[in-house]
Parts: sequence; structure tokens; C-alpha cells
Amino acid sequence: MTLALHSRFAGELPELAVGWKAEEAPEPTLLVLNETLAAELGLDPDWLRSPDGIGLLVGATLPAQATPVAQAYAGHQFGGFAPRLGDGRALLLGEVVDADGRMRDLHLKGSGRTPFARGGDGLAAVGPMLREYLISEAMHALGIPTARALAVVATGRPVYRETIQPGAVLARVADSHLRVGSFQYAALVAQSTGDPAVLRRLADHAIARHHPAAADAQNPYLALLDAVIAVQARLVAQWMLVGFVHGVMNTDNMTISGQTIDYGPCAFMEAFDPATVFSSIDSWGRYAYGNQPSVALWNLARFAETLLPLLGEDTDEAIRLAEAHLGAFQMHYETQWSAGMRAKLGVPDAAVPTVEPLITDLLEQMQQSHIDHTSFYRRLATAARGDAEPVRGEFVDLARFDEWTQRWRALGPDAEAMDRVNPVYIPRNHLVEEALTAAAEGDLAPFDRLLSVVQAPYVERPGLERYTEPGDKEFTTGFRTFCGT
Ligand code: AMP
Ligand code: MG
Repeated sequence: MTLALHSRFAGELPELAVGWKAEEAPEPTLLVLNETLAAELGLDPDWLRSPDGIGLLVGATLPAQATPVAQAYAGHQFGGFAPRLGDGRALLLGEVVDADGRMRDLHLKGSGRTPFARGGDGLAAVGPMLREYLISEAMHALGIPTARALAVVATGRPVYRETIQPGAVLARVADSHLRVGSFQYAALVAQSTGDPAVLRRLADHAIARHHPAAADAQNPYLALLDAVIAVQARLVAQWMLVGFVHGVMNTDNMTISGQTIDYGPCAFMEAFDPATVFSSIDSWGRYAYGNQPSVALWNLARFAETLLPLLGEDTDEAIRLAEAHLGAFQMHYETQWSAGMRAKLGVPDAAVPTVEPLITDLLEQMQQSHIDHTSFYRRLATAARGDAEPVRGEFVDLARFDEWTQRWRALGPDAEAMDRVNPVYIPRNHLVEEALTAAAEGDLAPFDRLLSVVQAPYVERPGLERYTEPGDKEFTTGFRTFCGT
């Protein structure tokens, strides 16, 4: 089969693209393939399972005209600026136009060292790549904008971490991999050459691919800023509503498209607590659950800074414009989050001033009583149907919760509507670990099962009760996640 692989990014932005090839995989074995996504991309799943197809999935056999590249980007990592990061172990194979005419990046992770690898080995291990596959597909099923996973192929090459692990390549698909860090890199190039041409080309590329309406605005680059503020506010609100902690919200991991990318140390919160952190390196809690909205705004301010030369002739005026427009983030975020919370409580049309104190009170109680975020909202639908016992029992201050329930019921919550927005199944940390441990021993059955469970998160099915419960205390207390693994 012939795959039309475009080289739009490489062609339009050569300053941000280094032509590169994947390292050879000695013994490639397909571990998991996303047949639905393959079909969306016009790729025949049977062909993808063939040696040529697997060759594509590890970057070995590409169409003749393909120009795989490592993308250059900069980034603020935990607040500190790194002028040169880039794809150290990833490659953009090119863009594919899907069945709906949408252009999407086909990207590999774990495909070997590139000129951006610095001290890294350019590789990825099977466990973390299966983890990204599982969590990104769960996010997609939850209705959250995200990069998708197309396949994980074991390479047959050992990867040296704390222990020796089997290597893998993840093939992933995203609307693009343009990051805030891509703009930071282009802004540095523009500064050093005194010519903003590359920055303008990048902004035009981003507008054309993700925010085409901005092209018709009076100030297209200001409209681009507005659009990115809006999609990121919406994205982070959606994360918050499902209890997702990204874990490494560096500017190089924040997209211009508004999709979630770079699943490293991410995990889902169980007991509600804004201070929830999983990443082993986030010792100050910079990227804690409750900090995500303010970090997103901080990152967007870095994005706005890169756009200053494009916003107007006069720098002071450009700064004034950028600051004024960044002010819209909070409004966008609160609108999205508050609408989402009302939907979770089954009262989407209730007046905001009525519900707001109810939400604040509920979150305080959930934190005080260490209530499991996911199962609580789902079980609350049972309370809407008349039986509050399943949720009530876990609260320490029963009188306070009863009083809350009374006020909430007075708003006439719709239990069916609640079930459509409150997931039963998320990739719970202990289940993910269990699946990955089995996969490391060669048994993919628990992974496949968990994947199929989280791919239909809103539909409760008999026999899947163990997928709805939080992990036990011993597991949860010690649970940490890792970057760049
Ligand atoms: P991230 O974990 O997405 O924040 O990655 C930060 C930077 O480290 C990016 O430039 C990655 O390409 C790079 N990186 C992470 N792991 C490796 C690795 N094993 N080899 C080379 N580069 C890596
Ligand atoms: Mg990254």
C-alpha cells in the first residue's frame, strides 16, 4: 500500500526541522495496534501488521518522498529556560491527511538518538510506551483533546534504565506537535538574526493548521493568541473535571492545537486534593493538580512574549495588548470549568450564583474526607435517583454532607445526564501498574482488558467492578511516576 506522507512542517519551517532517520530495530514485534485510528488515517490494519507496515511504525521503511525530521524547540522546564531541547528521541515522519480531510502528524517516540538527544540514549522502554498508549486512549474516550496512540512496537533492543528493559517505539498521531516551546525557539532565532520571518512563518503555519479563523482577523497574531488561550483554558478545565494531573507542564509540553501531548509522569487523582502530585521530580508541587490552571496561564504568558514582535510596531503597545488578552484566560477557564461542574452535578442549567457556593462546599468536604474523585460523582447519580447512602458513608461530617445533599437535590439533578459526563472507568494507577507489570513479563492480556475498559468510560458493565475502585492505601501512598523513562 502507498501512504501519502506530506512534509509540510519540514518544508515550511526548515529552521525548526533536522532531517533524521530512525535507529534500526533489530527485532520489531508489534505489541498493540489501534485499528480504529489506523482506519481513520486510511491505513489498512492488515498491512500495518505486515513487515512493511511494522517497518513504517518504527520508521525503517518509509515512502520514497518522506522526509522524517527531529523538531527543534526550546522550553521552560520547571520554570527554568532551556534554549535548545527538541526531539531527543522522537521523529516527525510527516503528515497524513485523514478520512475527514484533516492533516495530522505521524510521530515516533523512542526511535533513537537525534542531534537533540544531549545525554539521553534516544530510546524508550515498553512499559512507559504502553502507558502513554493506554492513558492517551483513555483521555480520547473521555472526550478530551489529545494526541492518539497508533501502535507500540517492541524493538528487540535492550534499554538501560534502573534495570534492563525491553525497548519500544510508540507511533502517535496529533493535530500537530507545535508547542509553546516551538515559538520560544523561533523567537530566539528571530532575535539572533534580527529578522522575525521564521516566527511569522511559524505563526502562519499554526494559524493555517489549527486556528484558521484567526487569518481573517484584523490582527491575525493577536487572534492566534486568543485562540490558543481559549483552547488551553478549555483543555485544562477538562483535565480538572476528570482529575487528570499532567505532571510536566513545561512550555515544551504545551501544544498550540489545544491537545494533550507528552504523557510522561501523568496520572489520575483518586482522593480529591488540590495538592496531588505524582511525579518523582516535582518535589515542590509546581505541577500539582490544583496548580494546573495557573501554570497554563504562566505558559501562555511565555507564548504571548514570543508573539510580541508580530503584534504591532510599537513594543509597549504589543505588551499592553498581550497582557489585556491574557486576562481572558481566567474567564474562559472559569466558564468551562463551572459549566463542567454543573454538568457533573446534573444541574447544567442552574444559575451560576446558586451553584457556586454548593461546589465550593462540596470540594471542601471531599478534600476533608479524602473522597475518591471519580467514583463519587458517578455514585452521586444514585443519590439523584433517591438513595444517598452509597456516597454518604464516606464523609466524616455526615450532618454537613446531608445538608449539602438537600440543597443540591432542591435543584432537581438529572441522574441520566450525570451518567453521560461522569466516567465509571479511568486508568486507575494500581490497575495501570498491574497491566504494565504483566506486559513486562510478556502477558499483554491485562493491558488489553484495561484498555478495552477505559475505551468506554461512561458505560457501566457488569463484571468490571474491580476497575471502579481506588487503589488500596499502601499502594497509593507510595505511588510515584517518572519522566523521560
Ligand atoms: P519531556 O519528558 O517531554 O519533558 O522531555 C524533555 C526533553 O528531553 C525533550 O527534549 C526530549 O526529547 C528529551 N528526552 C527525554 N528522554 C530522552 C531520551 N531517553 N533520549 C534523548 N532525549 C530524551
Ligand atoms: Mg516533551
